Order: sequence, then structure tokens, then C-alpha cells
Amino acid sequence: NFEPKLAWSDLKVNADGLVPVIAQDYQTGEVLMLAYMNEEAFNTTIRIGKMTYYSRSRQELWIKGLTSGHTQYVKSLTADCDYDTILAKVSQVGGIACHTGAPSCFFNEIIKKEYTERNPLKVFESVYQVIADRREHPKEGSYTNYLFDKGIDKILKKVGEEATEIVIAAKNPDNEEVKYEMSDFLYHMMVLMVEKGLTWEDITRELSQR
Ligand code: AMP
Ligand code: ZN
Ligand code: ZN
Ligand code: ZN
Repeated sequence: NFEPKLAWSDLKVNADGLVPVIAQDYQTGEVLMLAYMNEEAFNTTIRIGKMTYYSRSRQELWIKGLTSGHTQYVKSLTADCDYDTILAKVSQVGGIACHTGAPSCFFNEIIKKEYTERNPLKVFESVYQVIADRREHPKEGSYTNYLFDKGIDKILKKVGEEATEIVIAAKNPDNEEVKYEMSDFLYHMMVLMVEKGLTWEDITRELSQR
């Protein structure tokens, strides 16, 4: 599959002969789970390209997803600075890593300061999803549905207007106004994306190839 730059013997095992592995979604960076590998799990993972752990409770090799279907395809494996932990970037099938059905195993909150999640990819995705959902299931009084009902010419007119408003707002040394107009523009652009059947996947693939 891919040629490893490190072998198991380069890693520092714990007292049980295992190495902890943190699995992370390769696109969003979301931390999915922590599990352990022994030498066989490590070599199997590299050979088959699917995350394979050593189950401490069952004391056996554990190809993640074998029973649940929630396979983790390996995108990268990286050892940390002192070679005692592995970070795995994976493509998580079904978006569910935890046996409870949760996307990530890390949901048992201990402490939390006041903050709002600001993963740009996720914000764009979720606003896009709301817009696409409005088109599927129109909602009374929805401005998004008003735009879809008026049709593409109305949407294009709004995209043009909002772009112009960005240009005007950018003359203001205070960033508040331009921030607002850029958000307006992005919303209307996403309405256009849904109208045209374009996804963020299409846009980000194009951008990242430039
Ligand atoms: P799976 O490998 O997803 O088919 O799950 C097989 C079994 O492994 C489950 O029944 C659980 O006991 C266990 N398991 C699966 N995912 C996790 C996880 N993220 N953390 C701990 N145990 C898990
Ligand atoms: Zn370090
Ligand atoms: Zn370490
Ligand atoms: Zn879990």
C-alpha cells in the first residue's frame, strides 16, 4: 500500500508492549478515538490500509469496523517526538468512530470554558446544509426559499449586489462592516452553489489544485 519510513522497532512501547494511537479525521481534524497497537496490529494496518488495533479487553487483533462497518481507511501514520504515540489521520466510514454510535469517542465533558466552535470547514458545510435542506423542505417565511422561488436571476442579482457592498464597505477602516458584507456575500454565494448543484467539495478540490 505505502512504504513505511519507520518500523515497529523504531517505536517505544509501553509496559504492556503497546503503543497508543490517536485517530483523527483527515479532513476536519476531529479527534475520533484512542486505542492501542501491538506489533501485529501496526504491521496489519500498514499492509491492508485499514486501522487495526489491539483490543486490550478482548486481548485480540481488532480490525476497526469489521463488525460495525465503521472502517477507518488510513491516510497517514505519524509518530510523535519521542516515538511513544502514533497519530493516525483516517477517512472514517459513516462518520462514526465510537461503538456508542457517536462520531467521536470524546463526548464526556469534564470542563469547558465559554467558546464557540469555529472550524471554518464545518461552518461552511453546515450553512450549506441548511440552505440545501430549505430547498428540499421549504419553510414558511424563509428568505432562502424566497430566493429559490424567485429563481436564478434574483440570486445572481443578489450575489452582484453583495459583492459591490463588500467593495464599498472595504473603504471603511473599521472591519465590522466589511465582515458583515463578506458574510452576506458568502451566504448568497452558497444559495447560488445549491441552485447550480455545486458543493464545497467541488470548490475546495479546485482551489487546492491551484
Ligand atoms: P468495530 O470494530 O467498529 O466493528 O467494533 C467492534 C467492537 O469494538 C465493538 O463492539 C466495541 O466493543 C469495540 N469498539 C469499536 N469502536 C470502539 C471505540 N471507538 N472505542 C472503544 N471500543 C470500540
Ligand atoms: Zn514534542
Ligand atoms: Zn510522546
Ligand atoms: Zn467510543
